[in-house]
Amino acid sequence: MTVPRLPQPGETVLGDRLGSYPGGKGANQAVAAARLGGQVAMVGRVGNDSFGAGLIENLDRNGVDSSGVERDPAAPTGAALIYVEDGGQNMIVVAPGANAMVGPGDAQRAAARLGPGDLLVLQLEIPIAVIEQAVVAARQAEAFILLNAAPAQRLEPGLLSQLDALVVNEREANALGGHEDPSTTAAALRTMGPKVVIVTLGPAGSLFCDETGIHRVEPFDVKSIDSTGAGDAFMGALAVGLAAALPSAAAIRFANAAGAAATSSLGAQAALPRLDDLKRRFGLDLSFSEQ
Ligand code: ADP
Repeated sequence: MTVPRLPQPGETVLGDRLGSYPGGKGANQAVAAARLGGQVAMVGRVGNDSFGAGLIENLDRNGVDSSGVERDPAAPTGAALIYVEDGGQNMIVVAPGANAMVGPGDAQRAAARLGPGDLLVLQLEIPIAVIEQAVVAARQAEAFILLNAAPAQRLEPGLLSQLDALVVNEREANALGGHEDPSTTAAALRTMGPKVVIVTLGPAGSLFCDETGIHRVEPFDVKSIDSTGAGDAFMGALAVGLAAALPSAAAIRFANAAGAAATSSLGAQAALPRLDDLKRRFGLDLSFSEQ
């Protein structure tokens, strides 16, 4: 809902426009990867309500296999209420709903779909214990494990040690690693186990730390109007690039392009680019996508 100004406690203000949009980091990233040519299946939970039905339909429309999304009989669909003030300041309340009910059975279902050459892509909007279970099962299935540690949260060393790739933005990097400088944080986090640590830097692109050291990956120049969804576009593209066996630097460059494109139009999923957009706008060579 857009509002002329954010309300104070106890105050009623007259709002402006009410919109309802599909979201959730997992779903956004699944849609981002599917639009860029990835073969994607989503595992998770929604409620047995109209929001849940809408989210599943949205996945289907975007070519994501939604058969792993359960309709929880007891909890409502997870939702966020967002007030956006003139000038862009916002206020957000998230109710996890069915996301909090994702359990060990769901982790097993996710892992059962995985084999060598597949990727498990995780975010922190479901219980951490389930993430840990899914990671153990994916390891056994010899899948590649990619974690986007968002929203920011401290992680157990046992979980970090199992990751092939960890992706954080600067705020999340700070929450996890505690250093001001993102390259110091990336290097420190890498000593805890992930083979590659990637820090996204908004308009400055991204950097990664692997066994050969720290590398900057330059941003694409765009006229940015709304940064919502940039991180999710980045994740979806990164997953597609890595699944196509691109080297880290090339996959991250592709992800930078997707992140940049997502900032140049409004919304989260509405702004997620397709392969053709990236080819046309940035002249990327995307021959891997035709293999
Ligand atoms: P998040 O949305 O998670 O905070 P970022 O803001 O770091 O993530 O954005 C993710 C990626 O999107 C960045 O690494 C960068 O490649 C790209 N990006 C974001 N904002 C811009 C921008 N203004 N110009 C160009 N690229 C951008």
